[in-house]
Amino acid sequence: MIISKLPNVGTTIFTRMSQLAVETGALNLSQGFPDFDGPQALRDAVGRHIAAGHNQYAPMTGLPALREQVAAKIARSYGRMFSADTEVTIVPGATQGIFCAIQALIQPGDEVIVFDPSYDSYEPSVELAGGRCVHVPLALPGFSIDWQRLQDALSDKTRLIILNSPHNPSGALISRAELDQLAGLIRERDIYLISDEVYEHLVFDGIQHASVLGHDELYQRAFVVSSFGKTYHVTGWKTGYVVAPPALSAELRKVHQYVSFCGVTPLQWALADYMAEHPEHVEELPAFYQAKRDLFCDLLAGSRFTFTRAAGTYFQLVDYSAIRSDLDDVAMAEWLTREHGVAAIPVSVFYQSPPADLRLVRFCFAKREETLRQAAYKLCAI
Ligand code: PMP
Ligand code: GLN
Repeated sequence: MIISKLPNVGTTIFTRMSQLAVETGALNLSQGFPDFDGPQALRDAVGRHIAAGHNQYAPMTGLPALREQVAAKIARSYGRMFSADTEVTIVPGATQGIFCAIQALIQPGDEVIVFDPSYDSYEPSVELAGGRCVHVPLALPGFSIDWQRLQDALSDKTRLIILNSPHNPSGALISRAELDQLAGLIRERDIYLISDEVYEHLVFDGIQHASVLGHDELYQRAFVVSSFGKTYHVTGWKTGYVVAPPALSAELRKVHQYVSFCGVTPLQWALADYMAEHPEHVEELPAFYQAKRDLFCDLLAGSRFTFTRAAGTYFQLVDYSAIRSDLDDVAMAEWLTREHGVAAIPVSVFYQSPPADLRLVRFCFAKREETLRQAAYKLCAI
C-alpha cells in the first residue's frame, strides 16, 4: 500500500468550489481567475509563434528575450536592474517557482514561517522537502504582521519565511517600513525569504507596492516570485518567474531543471513580444482592477455583508455575521453557492487554527462588469 507523503491533504478548495459552481450553475467568484480574456495582441502572438516554428524546448532558464523584458519591467517598477542571465528564471507558474525554491532551500527538520491565512501550496511544498511549517497568524482585522508573534516563532531551526504581499486572501499589503522591520529582525540570522508577489501590479488607491526587489538588504536572501497569469489575465498559461541573487538562482535552477526543465516555448515568445510592445499594460492595471473593486463594493454597499475595501489583489473579503452567523465559513460558501447562485471561498481553510468567530468569505472581482452586477444583485437580495 502506498504510504502518503501528504496524508492531511485533499483536493484544494479552489477545485472544490469551482466544481460546485459548475454543478449548480452559480456565478463563480470563488477560484481566482478572470472571466475575460487577456489582450488580443498577446493571444495572437502565441499563434504567430507556433506557426513560426517556436515549438521545441525553451532554454532551461527561460527565453532570453522574456528574461530581459522581466528585468526591464522590474527596473521601471522598482528602480533596480537585475541580471536577466543570472537572476531571472522563467518557471511554469508561480506555484512551481515557489515549490522549487522550497526544495532548493529546505532540509529535513528545518522550520518555515508562514503567515496565516496562507496560500494553500506553501505547506505541502515544505512538507515534501521534509520541513515543518510554523504558522504565525496575521493580526486581525487588518491582516498585518504581529511582530511579537513572529519574533516568538523564530528558532534556531528557522530557515525560511514566506511573505505574500499583496496578500491572498485578504488583499492586505506589507509596507516598506515593515520590510525594514523584518530586515532588522533577521539581520543576524541565517534565514531566507520567499516573497510571493504574484499580485504585485494589483495595488490600489495610489499606493506603491513595496517589493522585496526594491529592498537591497532583504533581496540578498530572497526568492521573489511573480506570475504572468495575474498580470496579463492568462492564469491558464501557468507561466511565472523567480528573481533571486545569482547563488540562490543557481540552486533554484538545479531543482527547476528536473521538475519541469523549462516553461512552454510559444507562450514565452508571446509574452516577450507583448511586454516589449506594451509596457503601459502594467501601469494601467491598478486603475483597471480598482474600477472593478469599486464597482463590486459600491454595489455590495446595499447588502448585509460588511467589508473594508481590498488594498490589493483581485479579492474582496466580506463579513457575513449579520446574515448567517450560525454557519461557519465553509458552510456559508456552500450555502451562497447552492442557495444564492454565487460561489465564494471560505477563509478558514488557509489557517492551521482558524479564529473560532471567523465569519469571512472571499469573492474574486476579476470579472466582467456584467458578472459583477449579477453577483451583487444576488448578494444584495440575501
Ligand atoms: N501565490 C498566490 C498567493 C496566488 O494567489 C497564486 C494564484 N493562484 C499563486 C501563487 C500561483 O500562481 P500561478 O498560477 O502562476 O502558479
Ligand atoms: N490562486 C487562485 C486563488 O486563490 C487559485 C489557483 C489554484 O486554483 N490553484 O483562487
